[in-house]
Amino acid sequence: MLQLPPRLSKHQRVAIASIGVALAVMGIKYVAFVITGSVALFSDAMESIVNVLTAIAALIAIRVGAQPPDRQHPFGHHKAEYFSAVLEGALIIVAALLIFHEAYGALREPRPLTDPGLGLFVNGIATAINAGWAWVLINRGEAWKSPALNGDGWHLLSDVITSVGVLLGLILATLTGWAILDPLLAGLVAINILRIGYRLAAESMSSLLDEAASPKIQEQIREEIRNNADGALQAHDIRTRIAGPTTFIEFHLVVPGGMTVEDAHEICDRLEIAIEKRIEGAEVVIHVEPEHKIKSKGGVNL
Ligand code: ZN
Ligand code: ZN
Repeated sequence: MLQLPPRLSKHQRVAIASIGVALAVMGIKYVAFVITGSVALFSDAMESIVNVLTAIAALIAIRVGAQPPDRQHPFGHHKAEYFSAVLEGALIIVAALLIFHEAYGALREPRPLTDPGLGLFVNGIATAINAGWAWVLINRGEAWKSPALNGDGWHLLSDVITSVGVLLGLILATLTGWAILDPLLAGLVAINILRIGYRLAAESMSSLLDEAASPKIQEQIREEIRNNADGALQAHDIRTRIAGPTTFIEFHLVVPGGMTVEDAHEICDRLEIAIEKRIEGAEVVIHVEPEHKIKSKGGVNL
């Protein structure tokens, strides 16, 4: 059973604020569309609906992801965040397709804007709010190792790029009178959004499939093994997998066959403490073996 904690964490407060920002930005962008009648500004406002949905998805993922391990999920629930990030990547791709659709419509029937100056200014305010909030999300997501917050931030940044592209297109279209510039630029921006959505989905998918720790972390693990395994002969089959803020580490430790369980366990505890101290969020499990299990390749010889 999943039971939600009664108090809101810092992640959850940020995610709730994201929903508020997304709603406000959507409202302001819609006003910009009403002022101008621009199909590009309309699609820009539409794209914000995706933000509201993904902010809600992120909040659910964080609330589930923050759950302590329980009987059904003894390794914790962190992967809920990756799942949310994959969903967001998919929704970003949908948003890009929506913009392609709008751009195609405007391409077939270009028309000049009403009051472009005021409309572009209003949209510019919403875009500035989005840019500021994207920076907060990416920053917090990295500091707190939260892929959901980070994903939200990158998604928001893709919106800012869209909006800037749309604004530039509309300024050019207004200055030159070439109404067709607007859908053409919107299409180019949609291609960029497609790229960002694909990257987010692909990266989170890899994490869902038990991605290993970075080479740097793996080298740190080998270093701690070398420095803290006095009495053991070799460590091999070192495997790592990352789940949100936790890095699961397991390996085999070869000791002399005649060593007492007491002594072997003492080495294991020493190693576990050293590795968990060096690598934040590490959880170490060690399997002890006698010397005939020594491997000729790939191990850390002591
Ligand atoms: Zn082994
Ligand atoms: Zn123990």
